Amino acid sequence: MNRIRVFREQDWPAAAPSPAEVRERGSSLIRAVDARLADAARVERLHQLVINANRQVGIRLAATPRAGVALRLHWALLDEPRVGALVAHACLRGRLPAETSTLLAAHARRLTSDQTYAPRGLTATGGAAGRWIDLDAVLRSVLALAPVPVDPASLRIHWGAWVPMPRGQRRVRLGSMHVPTRTIRVHRMLDDAWIPTGVIEYVVWHEVCHHLAPPLAPGVREPRIHHARFRELESLHPQAQEASAWIEQNLTRLMQRYRVALAAR
Ligand SMILES: [Zn+2]
Repeated sequence: MNRIRVFREQDWPAAAPSPAEVRERGSSLIRAVDARLADAARVERLHQLVINANRQVGIRLAATPRAGVALRLHWALLDEPRVGALVAHACLRGRLPAETSTLLAAHARRLTSDQTYAPRGLTATGGAAGRWIDLDAVLRSVLALAPVPVDPASLRIHWGAWVPMPRGQRRVRLGSMHVPTRTIRVHRMLDDAWIPTGVIEYVVWHEVCHHLAPPLAPGVREPRIHHARFRELESLHPQAQEASAWIEQNLTRLMQRYRVALAAR
């Protein structure tokens, strides 16, 4: 009997491992639980594991006398070393141990949005060299637009499958600039032969502008982050408008291509 189901209630997040890989990790979890229960007499086996990608990192248990224990689990928890022990406990006692809530709270803190939960292995910085695009080269070329000379070595740039989102925002984010460490992160989705040069340049240039025109102090009336001076700088990229329209038009397709590429890994 197939004991694992990957439940896709919504789009599978681009940052998550592929459903095939998640299924694989689910199998290892079941094997680990079975091994823990091997010596226990007369226990309810884990009869079904449903893995989801809900907005909340959760774990839910349904224990029925006839069917045994069914568990619904957020995919991010598959990386959590204590989960095997918790699930074995649940099979033995018919309920999850009290420490589960502490574990969930820790994961909930790491969860910024449904698309950007940082899975282990995918957050590795990965450097600036991509499969198709070298971000160092893109950075050097856009710095020529800066009205004041900027030393490329004063900024850091790398690919990331996970780009942090402000709380509550659901759109996928293509790039980010961490102003204090001057670090630009570009979503790996853009490392695609299909991306026009102007588009990747525009994304990087936008982030460089955050360095050149940092956020305003809190309490101002105009937009704090993308303020007038910022927009003025951003428009120095000759293809700013076309690139932004291109992204608007092609984002869904980009995400699909990225998902397909992930599933094929
Ligand atoms: Zn921005």
